[in-house]
Amino acid sequence: MSLSSRRVGVMGGTFDPIHHGHLVAASEVAAKFALDEVVFVPTGRPYQKSMREVTPPEHRYLMTVIATASNPRFTVSRVDVDRPGDTYTIDTLRDLRAEYGETAELFFITGADALAQIMTWKDLDELFSMAHFVGVTRPGHELVVDGLPTEGLSLLQIPALAISSTDCRARVEDDLPVWYLVPDGVVQYIAKHELYRSEHG
Ligand code: ATP
Repeated sequence: MSLSSRRVGVMGGTFDPIHHGHLVAASEVAAKFALDEVVFVPTGRPYQKSMREVTPPEHRYLMTVIATASNPRFTVSRVDVDRPGDTYTIDTLRDLRAEYGETAELFFITGADALAQIMTWKDLDELFSMAHFVGVTRPGHELVVDGLPTEGLSLLQIPALAISSTDCRARVEDDLPVWYLVPDGVVQYIAKHELYRSEHG
């Protein structure tokens, strides 16, 4: 093992479904911050998305595995999927810290929309002590940093992909294609398991 500490990006998300916006964000941060690995962490039950039925974690986990398989630096963690109860980022980071060890440097990746919500997250000070935060641009959302600790935060401009999971779900329901918005294997997974079609619940 190398003597220098491992640099690990953490890409948390509902991934319902995972799309190319997520993958480009992870890839851009990996390049910019010379990361050894980006671990994708699908949420268990995201407390902020309780307004709608979220697809069962196992489907979201498997779509994330499929989407990241072609990149040797991308991995997928089950820590949030396997933890009972609501998902809080503080628990995600604690579990990953335990897994990767004290010497690893964690970089938590977040889009502009999620960054704007961050003030409402549980244990904000501890969060910023556990990881460096990287906010990436996202079309339709301003990259806001008011009230956030600037020391532990970097902002990164990335190629603008106006893709959202919400739009992907709506397209499937409306019989519109999601090819090239999500990876090919994810298109096939959605079709095979008949996800996002309201007549199937
Ligand atoms: P939904 O539409 O269901 O709310 P989403 O498309 O926002 O989903 P999430 O899984 O909630 O996807 O997002 C995970 C993380 O990826 C968040 O930090 C989010 O800001 C970021 N992200 C999602 N889509 C993009 C995008 N197109 N460009 C940059 N960042 C993105």
